[in-house]
Amino acid sequence: MRKLIFLILITIFTVQTMYSQNNSIKQRVESYRKVTLNANLSWLSEKEKKIIPLFIEAAKIADDIFWKQNFGDKDALLSKLTDEYEKEFVKMNYGPWDILNDEKPFIKGFGEKPPTANFYPSDMTKADFEKIKDPNKTGAYSIIVKEKDGYKVVPYSKAYSNEIRKIADLLKEAAELAENPGLKTYLSLRADALLTDNYQPSDLAWMDMKSSNIDFVVGPIENYTDKLFGYRTSFEAYVLIKDPEWSKKLERFTGLLPELQKGLPVDEVYKSENPGSGSDLNAYDAIYYAGDCNAGGKTIAINLPNDEEVQMKKGSRRLQLKNIMKAKFDNIMAPISELMITPEQRKYVKFNAFFENTMFHEVAHGLGIKNTINGKGTVRDALKEQNSALEEGKADILGLYIVTKLYEMGELKEGEVMDNYVTFLAGILRSCRFGVADAHGKANMVRFYYFEDKKAFTRNSDGTYSVNFDNMKDAVISSSAQILKLQGDGDYDGVKALIEKDGFIKEELKKDLDRINSAGIPLDIVFVQGVDYLKF
Ligand code: ZN
Repeated sequence: MRKLIFLILITIFTVQTMYSQNNSIKQRVESYRKVTLNANLSWLSEKEKKIIPLFIEAAKIADDIFWKQNFGDKDALLSKLTDEYEKEFVKMNYGPWDILNDEKPFIKGFGEKPPTANFYPSDMTKADFEKIKDPNKTGAYSIIVKEKDGYKVVPYSKAYSNEIRKIADLLKEAAELAENPGLKTYLSLRADALLTDNYQPSDLAWMDMKSSNIDFVVGPIENYTDKLFGYRTSFEAYVLIKDPEWSKKLERFTGLLPELQKGLPVDEVYKSENPGSGSDLNAYDAIYYAGDCNAGGKTIAINLPNDEEVQMKKGSRRLQLKNIMKAKFDNIMAPISELMITPEQRKYVKFNAFFENTMFHEVAHGLGIKNTINGKGTVRDALKEQNSALEEGKADILGLYIVTKLYEMGELKEGEVMDNYVTFLAGILRSCRFGVADAHGKANMVRFYYFEDKKAFTRNSDGTYSVNFDNMKDAVISSSAQILKLQGDGDYDGVKALIEKDGFIKEELKKDLDRINSAGIPLDIVFVQGVDYLKF
């Protein structure tokens, strides 16, 4: 009898833990909002429309390779699962580890994620690795496998030969159809790159294909999944459609940079250089994410290539993904504004303003000066580890400065400056939700407390915030002057003091953030994609 009661208790206990575990997986699945990826393709040529499904097909194969790299056998894992939420969450995370929760395991039978991912044997130690003689062992495009007589370096083109051959064939087929010469060259060189594990010629060609209406980022690219050494790169793919309207606008605004530089609110010596955009900047809509970039949180901008030799020769391209930003704005930023912005000013929180602030942040990196005015060398060298936080802060503030000027010049007509200011404030409140560990987070907080000090905004008794237009405008000007001077003077101690004083979340704001975090606002988005584009 006692045994029976014990058994019953055990059963109840087991059912309960299983229930609560599945229930929490359901909650984790639902913490991502489902978004359908779409773009206007009607303006593309017939051939471009025929290329899109080839890209998507190739992207799906890149997705399969990432599964192998990150976990191993996808089908074996999925076939073991019966719970629909578990299956779905495994697919969202490309394995049994919860990416947005420190990669904690959420499927029974799995422990911590090995830092090797599947790039190295999971029991290989760093000491084992040191003993490998092959000079290619630190390569970005190979894996390490264990064999009878030790460890062996296997290039991706061999390790994933079936998948890679298929992707290369699809790229060649797309290259045949391509009308844009830059796209044609890039696609055929990318096919070669996959087959030979030599990616540089295709990266160089990608830098030259700026005029194409469609784009396909595909291959092994980022190294974050290799947590053991960071040598090896993960497969991913983006299928992208250019936003012709914004791309034209950006070209025009970049052309205005010299005039904007002259008007900066600072002494002549701090604005004596010729401003340059440095890199190519364009807006796109994404219609397909695959592999690494589709795992966990979704990026809203791409800055590539990573190959530093290519960057030295040709710079880099910055691709802003407008429809992804829109999805995050609608599902995350808008509900946060509902909580945090005073009711009378919520009408100013607009996607257009959010997108403008993001784009002008990028443009503003080109303003100001790169060299100190007092012989301390480049601003970057003089400000050392403090440089990137200040540079991000500069881009935020000068971005607002540019918006203000463009409205005054009549270059921006839809909306009003207040949209950009209130949306900017809501943006700061949104981005400190995940802490302020990185340069941009610290810069955000320095800006927040500077604005508070200048009464650019007020925190109301109900816990919402409102922008005070005139004070905000003055604060943008005075803050621009402060930052440009710190950079020009290469004032390392000044920057350090500023960031130490204000570069973190203080008590009152912490309470506001707790409100955001307990309001059930989605953590991120997950895509429903590809269904509409396969029928051309
Ligand atoms: Zn930036």
